Amino acid sequence: MITPRPGRLTIAVVHPDLLGTYGDGGNGLILARRAAWRGLDVELLQAPSNEPLPRADLYTVGGGEDGPQVRAATTLIEEGILVEAVGDGAVVLGVCAGFQLLGRSFPDATGRPHEGLGLLDVTTTKGSGPRAVGELVASCAHDAPRMATGDHLPRLTGFENHGGVTSLGPGVRPLAHVEHGVGNGAGDQTEGAWSGRVLGTYLHGPVLARNTALADLLLGWALAPAGSPEATVAQLASLEDADEMSLRAERLEAMQRIRPARRLRRRTSPR
Ligand code: GLN
Repeated sequence: MITPRPGRLTIAVVHPDLLGTYGDGGNGLILARRAAWRGLDVELLQAPSNEPLPRADLYTVGGGEDGPQVRAATTLIEEGILVEAVGDGAVVLGVCAGFQLLGRSFPDATGRPHEGLGLLDVTTTKGSGPRAVGELVASCAHDAPRMATGDHLPRLTGFENHGGVTSLGPGVRPLAHVEHGVGNGAGDQTEGAWSGRVLGTYLHGPVLARNTALADLLLGWALAPAGSPEATVAQLASLEDADEMSLRAERLEAMQRIRPARRLRRRTSPR
């Protein structure tokens, strides 16, 4: 069992003024609360785009519209602090626009590629089909990161709303496989990607409210003793999570009710 390192844990929500459209700022709050409930010393920072990014142990980057996404990426690339922090072992969660801008490139509002931070080997282009909007359920990939117990993460639930399609390169592994919804959308049924301690997903919700095991995985990475291998996850005291579990169950059950009807529609269609 790896016990959490002592000292203050700093969590920063990156550019909430640009990347706050989908409520992903809640992820920072959830991480901070889950650390505080365990008696850990934690500080939650909001890091607006007009100030230099503070150094933190764990960053969350949320979803947003195409224009603000370009502004956030441009600023983060120019100042270089996020890339430097990852080099020093910081953990990053990117959601949707935040996921896309951690990659190699993503489309601007006209569809032209714009440079990303290159922290994940993924490339996003504008999808040709309709925008992916709705509930998303995905089961964890075989080589998804493992929790402190060594077990796989439970199924992931959230909602998606994006026009981008993300292809994974050889430098990342998929986070999960789509059961319902679109996810990365590049035809391989994958959802999200991760490498080292950087993890991206299309799941809003906020994702960490509906998937507390993922929140604890990120905290466990950030609280691993200094110098631990990247895969080390500190073991945290368990929390009751009754409300979170009932939210999860409610969302997953709602999807189960929808799926038989969808299957029926497909079967009776001319194709
Ligand atoms: N603007 C991006 C897209 O449409 C990201 C959207 C989002 O963050 N939800 O693909």
